[in-house]
Amino acid sequence: MKKFSAGALRVSLYYASDNRIKSQAQKRDSILQQKKRALRSYLTLFVIWLVMVLLFVAISARQSINQARDEVKLTGTALHRVLSQRAAQHDAHLTSLNALILAANPPPVDALRQVSRNIIRFYPRITVIDVLLLNREGADITMKPVLMVEETEHASVAADFAPQIIDQKPGEVRSYISATTPDRYYLGKKSDNSNPGYAIIMAINPALMIEPDERPVWADLTLKIDGQTVLKQQSDTHEQASALLEQPVFSQFIDSQNQPVLLTLSRPMALTEVVDPLRTVLFAVLSLIALVSGYWLWRSVQMARQAEQKASLLEHETRLAHAARVNAMGELASGIAHELTQPLTALLSQSQAALRLETSGEHPALLRQALTANVREASRAGEILQRMRSYMSNHEPQRKRTEINQIIRDVSELLHTDLAQRHITLHQQTEKTSPVIIADAVEMEQVLYNLIRNAADSLAQSSRAEKQVILNAISRNGLVIVTVTDNGDGIADDILPRLFEPFFTTRNGGMGLGLSLCATLIERIGGEISAANLAGGGAVFTMVIPEAAPLQKAD
Ligand code: ADP
Repeated sequence: MKKFSAGALRVSLYYASDNRIKSQAQKRDSILQQKKRALRSYLTLFVIWLVMVLLFVAISARQSINQARDEVKLTGTALHRVLSQRAAQHDAHLTSLNALILAANPPPVDALRQVSRNIIRFYPRITVIDVLLLNREGADITMKPVLMVEETEHASVAADFAPQIIDQKPGEVRSYISATTPDRYYLGKKSDNSNPGYAIIMAINPALMIEPDERPVWADLTLKIDGQTVLKQQSDTHEQASALLEQPVFSQFIDSQNQPVLLTLSRPMALTEVVDPLRTVLFAVLSLIALVSGYWLWRSVQMARQAEQKASLLEHETRLAHAARVNAMGELASGIAHELTQPLTALLSQSQAALRLETSGEHPALLRQALTANVREASRAGEILQRMRSYMSNHEPQRKRTEINQIIRDVSELLHTDLAQRHITLHQQTEKTSPVIIADAVEMEQVLYNLIRNAADSLAQSSRAEKQVILNAISRNGLVIVTVTDNGDGIADDILPRLFEPFFTTRNGGMGLGLSLCATLIERIGGEISAANLAGGGAVFTMVIPEAAPLQKAD
């Protein structure tokens, strides 16, 4: 059992002040770490938010584009059907006019004119109906107008197609376009195979093939025949269309064998139409609020959890500290009892002897001797108590000229009995004139106390028959060298570099603070401490401390 652990109590006192400096630095470090962590969290939060907003934009853009594509397809299909029906009506009109031409020879011009007028009145997109009598004589083709309804200026244009119409099959309908009237297309039908023979030419205004309410305001629409645009209608939003977006398009030839009209419908889309700025801003703000509140909630839960852990750690620590205090008090009490037993026993037996001498009235000299011994033992007990008080006291170190030999003597005396009980011999090797250092005597005693106790602990593990600890002090070149040597098992090579680290221990129940405290105390007085193994086994701890300057001799 360890005899007296006043040193251990002092360890905690010194560590408290050392730890205060360390804990301030640690606090600064941890504030910096906290700031870095917070910055990282906010950055991550910002990136998540940005990704969310971008995703929102991408998804809503996709939705808007898909919707527009469906809309274009639906409208395109409806327009395609309407245009196909209207083209079929043109064919039907040509067929009925041709039937009238073939009904009599010469054809009933008045009836033809009447029917043509009616057609044009009811179908305003048919702007002209011409009937021509074409005659081919060799390479020459002559043309005689039979009737011409509306838009007379188109007659000459219609005549341009006469050479092609004459080559058509009888009854066949063909489409023609003219560079001079790019906003019209023409249908030509040859009546029969006779020469001279009749031909019907019908001019169509493509702009009137689609009713104004049939084309949605958002749509760009073109009609092309043989690659030439015959109608081009643009939406109100055409100019705002973004080149970044792929515009949805519907493009298909109408269902007609002789009118190859290509219908193209597209929807020019502006960026603001695809990504609604108001909705996006609203989403950005709401998602930011949700993210930040979620983060704060998560942080508060984390902090509450940490606080709980800290509280339970603190409670554990408090319990441990209490246990340590109780142990220390116990050890201290047993230490005091042990130290005082010897002088008190001596006091008792001397006093009993004195009482006997006093009763018998004999040997007054012996009585005096017994009382003198009593005084000596009582003052020894007083000294022991005084030393223990100084170990326990929390006074500031008082550095003054201290004789190292005296320290060695005092510590040897303190530990002598304990070591003897453990069959360890303590040798003091000191010079006649003690080297002097500037130190606090109590601190120096503590250092030697810890080193001797460690040596004793090591020797307790050793199987060596003659266990010994040697204390040596010499002075060389202004330095005092103090060594504590034991002949135990020495220190394992791998732990040698870590000996002076706080809390490094290999002892069961050890605190690992003894050597680190020694190093602190020795370094505070400008010295150094080191450990090494001895060739013949055992360890040596060496302290090199500046020697105090000699006192000036008074004249
Ligand atoms: P503790 O005594 O609580 O373990 P110390 O700081 O006093 O803490 O010692 C640290 C370690 O150094 C000990 O656990 C032991 O392994 C080693 N040590 C110290 N002195 C000696 C020695 N004289 N011989 C062998 N090992 C030692």
